[in-house]
Amino acid sequence: MKRIAIYPGTFDPVTNGHIDIVQRAVELFDEVWVTVAINPSKDPMFTSDQRIRLLEESLKHFSNVKVDKFSGLVVDHAREVGAKAIIRGLRAVSDFEYEFQMALMNRKLADEITTVFLMPNEKYTYLNSSLIRGLARFGADVSEFVPACVMDALKRSVN
Ligand code: ADP
Repeated sequence: MKRIAIYPGTFDPVTNGHIDIVQRAVELFDEVWVTVAINPSKDPMFTSDQRIRLLEESLKHFSNVKVDKFSGLVVDHAREVGAKAIIRGLRAVSDFEYEFQMALMNRKLADEITTVFLMPNEKYTYLNSSLIRGLARFGADVSEFVPACVMDALKRSVN
């Protein structure tokens, strides 16, 4: 049986930290669905279709990665694609409390699905999408932290 995992997030935009997590996940699972969460209460810089396009471009070298989007419960989407695991990245203790709550709630909702936490290379532990958006708005060079296609999209969006 195929081991399938889902990696949900906002990905506004995808960073090298997210890609590091995907790289680790594909070594553990046969198929990884990177899934853009549509959250009407968030006001993203990039539309969901733009975020998907940037993920597809950045992850095209992985043969066992699929990119899609969902709205609603992560566990429902995990069931739809046949995933038994939800991947989340843990950067620092500051991520822990929120992630712990979500993992336990998701387990309550779907006991057969396990949340798996992966830690990125330490050089990405201080990296998040909101920091990248903020830096890009002020014209800082973030090319070290995001794929080239994201760099281009950020330039277009702030000019
Ligand atoms: P969310 O709004 O769901 O937190 P994000 O796109 O910010 O969405 O992140 C999706 C997942 O990727 C989360 O589990 C987050 O902790 C993880 N993540 C984000 N940035 C990094 C990073 N630099 N290194 C490792 N994991 C990360």
